Amino acid sequence: MAAADDLCAMCVLVGDEPAGGWVLVEQEWAACVLPGFEVPGWLVVIALRHVESLADLDDEQQRSLGLVLARLSGGIRSVLGAEKVYLLSFGENHPHLHLMLMSRMPDLAEEYRGPEIVKARERLLNVEAAYEAAAALRELLR
Ligand SMILES: [Zn+2]
Repeated sequence: MAAADDLCAMCVLVGDEPAGGWVLVEQEWAACVLPGFEVPGWLVVIALRHVESLADLDDEQQRSLGLVLARLSGGIRSVLGAEKVYLLSFGENHPHLHLMLMSRMPDLAEEYRGPEIVKARERLLNVEAAYEAAAALRELLR
């Protein structure tokens, strides 16, 4: 039991095909729908190797992260018609570098824009639509 608790949840996640499939796996990064955050256009971008923060990335990882984030953000905008694509990274629950890209759709109520979007998670959850969006993004970025 103790051994399972010691496993890094993000290392476990990148070690297997996630529900909804990988949207992108390249260079040092993988992106997919994060369990519990199945909102269309919300993706987690995870470092394939266990690193704890942006400050720990080497030069190549820094460069490739920029490219990956830009491609995914552009994809989310064009596939879903998102007005904004937010980027969050806290690292509080899982000490393995991961970043959330979050679509902010044109019809999202004003009160949920900006940091408040986190509070809209439950009302925006739509597993089927999130996986469909992931598939469309995977196709676009192929
Ligand atoms: Zn890890």
